[in-house]
Amino acid sequence: DYKPGGNHPAYIGEFYNNGKYKLTRKLGWGHFSTVWLAEETITNQHVALKIVKSDKVYSEAAKDEIKVLKKLKETQKYDRYGGSGNIMKLLDNFIHEGVNGHHIVMVFEVLGENLLAMIRRYEPNGVPISYVKQITKQLLLGLDYMHRCCGIIHTDIKPENILMEIGNVEKTIQIIDSMNNKKRKNSVDSQMKELIVGATCNDVIQSEHSVSTSIHKRSKSHTLITKSQPLPSPSVISELEESLITGNDNSASPKLHNNASVNQQITVKIADLGNACWYDKHYTNSIQTREYRSPEVLLNASWGCSADIWSSACFIFELLTGDFLFEPNEGHSFSKDDDHLAQMIELLGAFPDYLLENGKNKKKFFTSKGQLRNISKLKYWPLQDVLKEKYKYTAKDANEIADFLLPMLRLDPRKRSDAGSLINHPWLKDTIGMEHITISDRKLYSVGDDIPGWSHEFTNG
Ligand code: ATP
Ligand code: MG
Ligand code: MG
Repeated sequence: DYKPGGNHPAYIGEFYNNGKYKLTRKLGWGHFSTVWLAEETITNQHVALKIVKSDKVYSEAAKDEIKVLKKLKETQKYDRYGGSGNIMKLLDNFIHEGVNGHHIVMVFEVLGENLLAMIRRYEPNGVPISYVKQITKQLLLGLDYMHRCCGIIHTDIKPENILMEIGNVEKTIQIIDSMNNKKRKNSVDSQMKELIVGATCNDVIQSEHSVSTSIHKRSKSHTLITKSQPLPSPSVISELEESLITGNDNSASPKLHNNASVNQQITVKIADLGNACWYDKHYTNSIQTREYRSPEVLLNASWGCSADIWSSACFIFELLTGDFLFEPNEGHSFSKDDDHLAQMIELLGAFPDYLLENGKNKKKFFTSKGQLRNISKLKYWPLQDVLKEKYKYTAKDANEIADFLLPMLRLDPRKRSDAGSLINHPWLKDTIGMEHITISDRKLYSVGDDIPGWSHEFTNG
């Protein structure tokens, strides 16, 4: 990747934008970029620099990402409910000339680890419910703002793309450094050093996640992906977690692993707008990461903002239980898509005619009678029962959670509840620190079909 058209060979101490930023450490990387912690040299503030690969393909994608990020920022003045605060902000952007070409650089506020790392830490249990409610309410506030104020669809909502805010960057870096020093003294494998930096840690966890179990399983043969690096010990993690979540000195804050005493306010932000598009301009129909992919996308039917609501429900279920809601596998006689559709039917019932009529792929998966072509034995297991029987929720809790999630999981994309109306749901009423937040111009259980681009690409005719 470090060749002409690829990544810039960035290094600690390197200056950017005429000396305005100085790199201090690597935070992470993705398909398009490497991401670095940097110091703004005049104010000494910390920022994150996303240095994009130089090839035209990447530059063009980065330009689209910047357009989206700028719209999200400019529209802030019309934000009535504060949801713009739950989206990662672009602070600056410029071009850096290096040995591998011209690189677009985006400057962001520094955030902490992503929510997959959090889910992973609480395994085999879910994340404490008071956190799940905070994360959910903030995610929905961000999406309501994106969909209704900005006309932007994220298209890739998943745990890896929701990042936690760091209470205090300086303090967190100090803790990371002191933990690194401790480990050096204890002569622990030097690779561990890098793992403590949340972002790098996330990448390792990401590759391992696919071994987690979902509620339905057709194929039993799981290939175990070998960990490339060891994970930090739980005690190291909880020390870092506390600093990440609270920004506090660890001596003063309650232990997070004690669910009973969880009363912290956490802030999360929606990140990675690299796949986002417009309510009236879609770039591709291949959207969403597999486990979070909506039925309309699988069937190649029209889609819109409501695709983000489907992914959000999958994500919230995963926070609650630690398991994927849908984890399709291919078998001898069926494809991953077949299995995915079967799991949806087992949980939610038969596909509505609207999707079968609209989906350009319907013949690939369904017979003319609307039966799945390649899978005949289905085991129906409704969400309430899954929550009670598999995850041991009380009947009351299971019903309440299902009452919240099922309107997000309507197979018909036109009929899904919108983010704003879900914020008004009774399940989120006791969200710590956010009890009084409601969306006054949305009715509980209302469907977003009045939102332009809700279930199909909006056209002006
Ligand atoms: P992808 O392959 O996911 O599209 P990408 O090249 O578009 O990757 P991002 O996903 O934006 O890059 O960022 C790569 C990683 O860098 C993230 O997964 C995250 O761990 C880290 N990161 C990104 N932005 C920040 C930030 N503002 N603060 C801290 N870490 C960040
Ligand atoms: Mg990403
Ligand atoms: Mg991206």
